Amino acid sequence: EPVVTIIGAGLAGSEAAWQVAQAGVKVHLYEMKKEKKTPAQSTDKFAELVCSNSLRGRSITNAVGLLKEEMRHFDSLIMQAADATEVPAGGALAVDRNLFADYITDKIRNHPNITVFDEEVAHIPAEGVTIVATGPLTSDTLAADIAKFTKSEGLYFYDAAAPIIEKSSINMDKVYLKSRYDKGEAAYLNCPMNKEEFYAFREALVNAEAAPLNSFEDMKVFEGCMPIEVMAERGEKTMLFGPMKPVGLEDPKTGKRPYAVVQLRQDNAAGSLYNIVGFQTHLKWGEQKRIIQMIPGLENAEIVRYGVMHRNTFMNSPKIMQPTYQTREREDLFFAGQMTGVEGYVESAASGLLAGINAAKLIKEEAPIILPRETAIGAMAYYITHAEGKHFQPMNVNFGIIAPLEERIRDKKERYTAIAERALAIIEKI
Ligand code: FAD
Repeated sequence: EPVVTIIGAGLAGSEAAWQVAQAGVKVHLYEMKKEKKTPAQSTDKFAELVCSNSLRGRSITNAVGLLKEEMRHFDSLIMQAADATEVPAGGALAVDRNLFADYITDKIRNHPNITVFDEEVAHIPAEGVTIVATGPLTSDTLAADIAKFTKSEGLYFYDAAAPIIEKSSINMDKVYLKSRYDKGEAAYLNCPMNKEEFYAFREALVNAEAAPLNSFEDMKVFEGCMPIEVMAERGEKTMLFGPMKPVGLEDPKTGKRPYAVVQLRQDNAAGSLYNIVGFQTHLKWGEQKRIIQMIPGLENAEIVRYGVMHRNTFMNSPKIMQPTYQTREREDLFFAGQMTGVEGYVESAASGLLAGINAAKLIKEEAPIILPRETAIGAMAYYITHAEGKHFQPMNVNFGIIAPLEERIRDKKERYTAIAERALAIIEKI
């Protein structure tokens, strides 16, 4: 009898196992945590939430809210568990993490189509339909085997990223388009600062609160990639000779050179997202928001991805993956979860959902599903397979990666509602 082998019973692997099993196909699920835990885990339960207990926004005018609603349509186990174990959290869907993991563990361990093996897998199985969903802290031997499969530059072990901003939230009256010394096409959005603004900004950076380091994270690995707050601390003017250097960036309106400049670089082909050049950071998210909104033009910035510096095993998916979560090289080998470059609990589960559906379809000799970019699930699959740039970076779901509407709707809430309704109408038909 054909079987789908799934490695890892985290957010993605548990959801994938459920989808395959519910489609009537047998699953062999391997999870190592009973014998060996990752440094972030503390229980033997499946789908452990290792940090926050929040699955973030509830409303469909929030991209992660839309993503959750789409998952409910596919009878997602993660969403069933979340809805059954929620705790009060205002606009967010937060859960009791123990009840949540218990619910999932129980459904998976007792499913007639699922056999669980409590062991570590060291190699990608050479044949058979397989979903690898071993997460950001994939064990070393398997990570080495995945690195071999993805060849050189195919697998990253650390993630150091600058924040990404939605272009529609930038005040274009305050910023200007220009490349340094007008070399090449004008490609950067420049946010000019005067002297007072610069020193207030530096002061805020120096005094901001950093996120705690995990015991398995060693900042030394980030040499050559200094967090902006560390650079600010090095000296009053250090940033002025680094990413905030104003030379060659005279404001075309006045011809004058600002005291300092923050540059934004286009981050996706559609031009809807911009990253802040040189601003990789380890600050807490609330602090990042406060400080970014001090930058002229970014007072109302919508941050779609915060800066991070942490251990994170993820693949160069644009080179390796298909939007079905199959690899390009082997149609019977799927990857899912954080390791494909989606970021977050819900996003990981959603990728597991699609991988699971498609793995079952492959066994049944049915055509795989590719969801369109108008949907949140489809937009994520598209992002990880089409993102540009030298260094692919994981991303949370956000409206910037979902296909824009044909008509222009100025009001943000109305716009997001229209995008969400369009997405759900598509999902309804599947
Ligand atoms: P995981 O949930 O990690 O599941 C992978 C599973 O595979 C694990 O159970 C692991 O034991 C198992 N495994 C690994 N190697 C092997 C092997 N060789 N053989 C068998 N089993 C194996 N996201 C948020 O949305 N909110 C947060 O607050 C948040 N905090 C995070 C904090 C930390 C420290 C980290 C590392 C990540 C955090 N994330 C957070 C990001 C991400 O959402 C989570 O890591 C999420 O759990 C990823 O889901 P996953 O299914 O890809 O991996």
